[in-house]
Parts: sequence; structure tokens; C-alpha cells
Amino acid sequence: MTNPERDPAELRLGPGGGGPRLEVLTPREVPLGGLRAMTVRRTLPQRQRSLIGAWCFVDHYGPDLVTETGGMQVSPHPHTGLQTVSWLFSGEIDHRDSAGHHAPVRPGEVNLMTAGRGISHSEVSTSATRLLHGVQLWVALPEGSRHTDPGFEHYVPPRVRGPGWRARVFLGSALGDTSPVTTFTPLLGVELVLETGGSVMVPVDPAYEHGVLVDSGVLTVEHLDAKPSELVYAAPGPTSLTLTAHDEPVRMLLLGGRPFGEPIVMWWNFVGRTHDEIVRYRAEWQAQITRDGAVLRNSRDVAPGRFGIVDDPLPPIPAPAMPNARLKERR
Ligand code: MN
Repeated sequence: MTNPERDPAELRLGPGGGGPRLEVLTPREVPLGGLRAMTVRRTLPQRQRSLIGAWCFVDHYGPDLVTETGGMQVSPHPHTGLQTVSWLFSGEIDHRDSAGHHAPVRPGEVNLMTAGRGISHSEVSTSATRLLHGVQLWVALPEGSRHTDPGFEHYVPPRVRGPGWRARVFLGSALGDTSPVTTFTPLLGVELVLETGGSVMVPVDPAYEHGVLVDSGVLTVEHLDAKPSELVYAAPGPTSLTLTAHDEPVRMLLLGGRPFGEPIVMWWNFVGRTHDEIVRYRAEWQAQITRDGAVLRNSRDVAPGRFGIVDDPLPPIPAPAMPNARLKERR
């Protein structure tokens, strides 16, 4: 559910010389769909930046009162060539996928779904959820792994802490902890909380580029300030990033990875390599969810195929029409 070609991106550059090269990527609001249309704040992809490492999609949402937004009601839809990473700050989401996984997504626990050659899934906030607040992230799979079997992993990272900060390392290694979750390229994903006035110098791999998504509070990355929902990009090079809070606590996600290095084509929920490949994925999904010219009303009636069948009575989401222009490679 993404149209990466339309991004009114805004950009602030950090002071030149000396420290790491930094940019602030500002979010745009995107309705997720559904009755009362919960909106998300998207910082990746943007016109001037498609990827940070293999991270290719960053949506930040909430805190939203479910009574006002209707919560998350995302019916079964397909994915290819990526992993989805769900991370919550509050609330709970029910995940069901066509590889047979049914799992709750809860705060402080990472759920990573590998689409590989094809998967479909639904995400619905639970009835007990009052306040929904979190992020939805995508990771592009490299050429050698993008046709892998679909899969799902759940992991609860331990809390690591130091003076003025605490963190959970959900992907990769940082701050003395390592996540066992499978990645197909070198990646980093950390939730980090600074106390009021807290500061931490995080040692980082100089071969990685990083993105710091601010959830709450005003954060200073080196010398550059960022507000909630802004994503601070740091180019490869530095061996550390200094993160500082001021008169309030700051919660953020630190994402990173080796520059991906492969051009990708992203459209709707698919990551591929060519326009024609995406056209094929779309046609295969539409064929699975259509009978006698009508879209099925119950996902359990979906035909077998690349994207499998989600054990969920919600109706499958039809793909939008392809744009007239050929999809462009992003890098
Ligand atoms: Mn999805």
C-alpha cells in the first residue's frame, strides 16, 4: 500500500565538515485505509532516499485512541521480496499469515515476517487495545535470498541499559547485545530510550548507514535536532553516533545496515527487480482472490498459489491498477 513515486519530501542538512553527514527526512501522512482511516507517518521511501541499508519502508503511527481511529484493520494482502518488522510501543495486533503463523504483536517484542517468494497476511488490533502506537518496517531481501521460503520469527530482546539510557536490540548487534533473529543482509534495529538530559555515544559499524526515527521527544543526533516522526539519516563513515535528550525523555528506533547496493522496484506491497516481475505478482494475487470476475469476500476461499491462503474470514485486499508509466528502479 505504497506509492513511492509521490513524496513531498523535505530535507534538512546537518552542518558540513567534521562529523558524520546527516539529513533529516520529514514524514508525510498516509491513510492506511479502513472505515475510519487510521493514518501513518511515512519517512521511507522518499524521493531522495529509498533505502537505509536494506530498510526500505518506515511507517510510524499513534499513539491513537482506537475508539477514534478504528485501530488497525488490515485485511489479507500479499508481499514479495521483503521482510516486515513490526514493533509496538503500546497496544496489541493479531498477525495471521499464509505460512500458518498466528501470533500476537506486543510492545517490546519483535515480529519479523519473511515474505520471500510470496506470502499473504492480515493485521488487526485486538479488542483489548485502547491505544495503538508503533512502527511497521520493511527490509528488502537481496538477490540471493529474495525467493526464499516464507517464514515468521518472534523474539523478545532483553533490556540493556547504561547511565541515562535503556535499549532493546531486536536486530543485529549494538550496545553489548546481539539479536538472534535472521537477517539476509547486515542490519541493525534497536529501540533506545534516553532519560531527560540523557546522552549516549553508540559505537556503530562505519560500513553501515543509519536512520534514527524519533518516536517521542526532541532528539539531538550529533548536532542536528529532530522532532517526533522525523528520521535522521547518517551516511556511512562514523564509528559512533551521539544521541542526546534535553528537557524530556526521548524514545527512538536506531536502524542501520550496509548500503543495499541493488536497485529494487517497489510497488504496492511488492518488492521486485523489474516492472514485469511486479506485473506478474499483481496478476497472480488477483487470480487467487477472484472467482467468476468478482473478488472473494472471505480469505479462506482464496485459491492456492504463490501467496498461499490466510486462515482469516476477512476479505482479501485487491491490488490497485498498475500506473500507466513503467515502474522505475530505486536505489
Ligand atoms: Mn503487510
